[in-house]
Parts: sequence; structure tokens; C-alpha cells
Amino acid sequence: MPQSVLKASPAIINKMKSHYQSHLQEKVPPGGLFCAKPAGCTVTAYASGKVLFQGSAAESEANKWSNETIASTKPKQSTSAPKNGGGIYSPPNNIASLSIIGSDEVGTGDYFGPMTVAAAYVDKKNIPLLKELGVKDSKNLTDQQISAIAKELIHVIPYSLLLLHNEKYNKMQKSGMSQGKMKALLHNKVLFSALEKIKPTEPDGLLIDQFAQPGVYFNYLKDKTTVIRKNVFFSTKGEQVHIAVAAASIIARYAFVREFEKLSEAVGFTLPKGAGNKVDVIAAKLIKKYGVDYLNKYAKIHFANTEKAIKLTR
Ligand code: MN
Repeated sequence: MPQSVLKASPAIINKMKSHYQSHLQEKVPPGGLFCAKPAGCTVTAYASGKVLFQGSAAESEANKWSNETIASTKPKQSTSAPKNGGGIYSPPNNIASLSIIGSDEVGTGDYFGPMTVAAAYVDKKNIPLLKELGVKDSKNLTDQQISAIAKELIHVIPYSLLLLHNEKYNKMQKSGMSQGKMKALLHNKVLFSALEKIKPTEPDGLLIDQFAQPGVYFNYLKDKTTVIRKNVFFSTKGEQVHIAVAAASIIARYAFVREFEKLSEAVGFTLPKGAGNKVDVIAAKLIKKYGVDYLNKYAKIHFANTEKAIKLTR
């Protein structure tokens, strides 16, 4: 029987489980987390992180996850290397071993909850310690792991954090501001305060997890009197380029999740993350109960979810 084996993080296994929701089997083998039977394939995920695909469609089914997992039979091929705008904003080749302030944002794709942006300073002598604490690409960590790491991290390194609450976000958005510009304003601000915090120390550089081309980023900031420009570098997948971006991402995610829990408490039940159908259903529930204006405090109301939710109430 054809089969493929992948190695996946707990977060990806959770994602797989919800992906195969309608094909889940009642019987799960010992040590198994779930077993699902989509067409032509049996998928079994184990607590060890191994995911086994068996059957005629094993390979094609496993391939759907190849970007998020490691094929256990062969070493992971780097499918896409980190990218940056090139030129003066490209990080130097030795950046991973330098003392860097990294910045990253969270919550931009979630209908409910704020946008959070963090900047973290990692002195090169702290790099081994951070690795020891488990700081790595937050996409490979569950929210529980993130919060455990963040709780230690915030006592170990200097950082700066900004929360853009929904009411303020919606106000800025209504005034015509794009989400890209909001991100730029917040990154600039959080980098400024991180620089202030570590004074008189100066970092070797600042690395922004790239969400826009450097030219676009600085254009967003053209009306600002204080723009952090000196030694600023951009790279996509910044978490893999310097651990300071991974640290910033963990802190931003931690703040987002905590805020999200507060909002869930305020509305009286667990709000869903992301911007999928579940979100529409819950938003509709809130609209029915409190009216559409209620969402202004809890959601990014320009997302298509608002319209979809209103339709659901009819
Ligand atoms: Mn990012």
C-alpha cells in the first residue's frame, strides 16, 4: 500500500484535524491523536508528531501539507528562502550573529481582536539563552507553548509592545487608512520605543518582518517627524533570519491571545480566531443579541465577515 510519512508540529496537527473534520474516525490507534479517511487515503496523526498517510491517494494527500511539515524520509527542502527588497535594506549575511531589534505584528488576519506589534532586542550574547528557552518561529508553536515561552522571555530581554484595539483600528480604517499603513505606523513606533529602552546601547541593526516593500513602508511614514531608518533591514520570514524577530513575534502573539481571552470573557463565550465561517456565525450571534454597532469594540468591521454575518441574521 502506498504510504507517506510527515513530521508535523502540534499546531499543524491541530490544523490537519480541523481540515479532516468531516472524515474523522471514531477509532484511533494507541498513541494516535486522530485518524481520518478522506477519499483514497487514511490519515493517522501520532503524539510523536508523525503523520502517516496510507492508500492510493497517500502521496497527493501528504503533498497538501508538505510546506508546513518535514518529510521524515528525506531532509526538508527549503521551498522558499526568506526574501527581502534587496539593496540597502537587505540584511547583511552575518545578521543571525549580530545584536538586533526585531519587530513583528499579529492579529491582522483575525476578525476578532486587536492588532499587536512587538519589537524585541536580542543582544548577541543572549542568542543561545533564547534558543534554550525555545524561541523559534511562532508558526511552529501552539498558543500554550507561546504563552509559556513569552512569560519567561519578557523578563529576559528588553521589548516594546503596542496594542491597537478594535475601536481605534476601526476609526483609523474608516478615515481611509489601509491596514498596511497602520502596520507601518505601529512598527515605526514600537522600534522607536525599543531603541529608547536600550539606550545608551545601540543595536547592530533593526529587522522588520517584511509586510511591504521598503519603499512602500517608508512612503507610509512620509508625514511622520520621527522615522526609524538607520540600520533598518527588511526580510520576509524574518523569524528565520534573526531570533529577535521570532522573539517579537512570540511576545506579540502572547499579547494578542491574552487580549483575545479578555474579549471572549466580555462577550461571554470563546471568540473564534481567524476570519472563517465560524467567525461569521459568532458575529451573527452578537449582532442578533446586541446590534451591529456592538462589533466595533470587538472586531475589525471592514472585513467581509461583517456583511456575511449580517446576512446570516436575516
Ligand atoms: Mn510578520
